[in-house]
Amino acid sequence: MRRPFISANWKMNKTLSEAVEFLDAFLPLVGDSGDVDIVLAPPFTLLRSVGERLKGTNVMLSAQNVFYEEKGAYTGEVSPVMLKDIGCSFVIIGHSERRQYFGETDDTVNKKANAALRGGLGVILCIGETKKEREAGRTFDVLRRQLGEGMRGLSFEGIVIAYEPVWAIGTGLTATTEQAEESHAFIRGLIRENHGGKAEEARILYGGSVTPENIPALMQRPDVDGALVGGASLKAESFAKIVKYR
Ligand code: PEP
Repeated sequence: MRRPFISANWKMNKTLSEAVEFLDAFLPLVGDSGDVDIVLAPPFTLLRSVGERLKGTNVMLSAQNVFYEEKGAYTGEVSPVMLKDIGCSFVIIGHSERRQYFGETDDTVNKKANAALRGGLGVILCIGETKKEREAGRTFDVLRRQLGEGMRGLSFEGIVIAYEPVWAIGTGLTATTEQAEESHAFIRGLIRENHGGKAEEARILYGGSVTPENIPALMQRPDVDGALVGGASLKAESFAKIVKYR
């Protein structure tokens, strides 16, 4: 039985006081949720203070990005060692917004995932097709390429996959539970091809306009093991409802 994994992605949102307000409301609401992995991914500026507040709780900390070198002359970048040092357990890699706006490629995703794992971080590896790719019938080709290239040379240890159809992110359009299951089952099949029995342990999250209303049906699907949540993770009450979807 795979343990559910629900992660917030705050993207470029929240000041320190807004984060404190969120945590004051959120932590008491989920304190008794012992049967699910709960993760918050605030922006870099808040990692340290949110991390301090999460110590001793059942909520883990994730960054939203990382660079693949350990240290040196890389102005503006942050390394896996630095993230680990301030209490991060995970890092999101390959989010479609990073692929779209910041030139992230399958190759950089692979380098980052490699470096993050070497640095002792868990990886939330995002893959997903655009609307155009889906309409052209290329969804499975894209998933095969992104997963194959992104995971090149890596074992499955420490990796959680997030299937995020790009057309469903921040748009209010959710994949139907059938569409989600179809892609999740396909991804599990790909993992099975390369990693055999490990595929049954792999957690595959759905991301794309998840809400307290649609999470229960998504989580009923056999290959949906959790969610990566953007917009609905910004409010403590709605994210707590998602965590407590059962
Ligand atoms: C995301 O940021 O990964 C995401 C899925 O966003 P939203 O829930 O807002 O669609």
